[in-house]
Amino acid sequence: PGVRDVRVALTAVKQTGPTLIAVGSGKGGVGKSTVAANLAVALARLGKRVGMIDADIYGPSQPTLLGVHARPEAEGKQLIPTPSPHGVDLLSVGQLVSAGHALAWRGPMASGALSQLVEGDWKGRDILVIDLPPGTGDVQLSLVQKSKPAGAVIVSTPQDLSLIDATRAIDLFRKTNVPVLGLIENMAGYDCPHCGQPSDPFGQGGAEAAARVLGVPFLGRLPLSASLREASDAGSPPAAGDGPAADAFRDLAQRILA
Ligand code: ADP
Repeated sequence: PGVRDVRVALTAVKQTGPTLIAVGSGKGGVGKSTVAANLAVALARLGKRVGMIDADIYGPSQPTLLGVHARPEAEGKQLIPTPSPHGVDLLSVGQLVSAGHALAWRGPMASGALSQLVEGDWKGRDILVIDLPPGTGDVQLSLVQKSKPAGAVIVSTPQDLSLIDATRAIDLFRKTNVPVLGLIENMAGYDCPHCGQPSDPFGQGGAEAAARVLGVPFLGRLPLSASLREASDAGSPPAAGDGPAADAFRDLAQRILA
């Protein structure tokens, strides 16, 4: 599917409720959650009413990334999203369990919890970003089938985006008729703080090349950056501030809305 198909899909969903954008990855640890949080904040800064569904049962990090520490309120069985200081309302699987406790859930239990997040009180939102669990297993598949995102963004480092990983993640969305909005290359390039010399710890250009081969749009690259990591750990997404990282996420958000 090309950019045009994606636009048609986004327009179609807009009329009936919030537009869902899934953020996925073939692997864990590539920065999927960091990118999802900052994209959500960037979309909010563009004037959208944005919600975040943190469905990453293996490592729910949106409460930390968005600086939300409260448990969600509920009305009857329906969860009410918790506002964050950065204008993005959150429902996270991490809010449903005590900090530090592992989620040793089997498929049906995980799916039940994820349904609760998707079926939260999201009325009035324009866009919901879903931070998917990494990989392409049953949990991901049923979540995508249930939530029916209007589009999906895939995050990869330049190196780990072997064609096989990319193909798997893209295949999951194609099988479920979710248009792939494009690939974002994260941790691409690093400027040494001592000598200023640029280097590429995870290689260079892998995601862009893979996007070309796979026929999906390449949305852009984000550098490996200590300040991005520090701000993320502190619950203050760089997209909420000023500077190159905020500009990069605004550009990505605009490209996704285009
Ligand atoms: P995933 O959701 O893919 O598992 P995370 O978003 O949790 O990955 O990121 C994994 C780790 O890498 C986190 O510590 C995060 O702060 C860090 N990280 C992500 N992107 C970058 C980047 N561009 N530069 C530096 N650190 C990053």
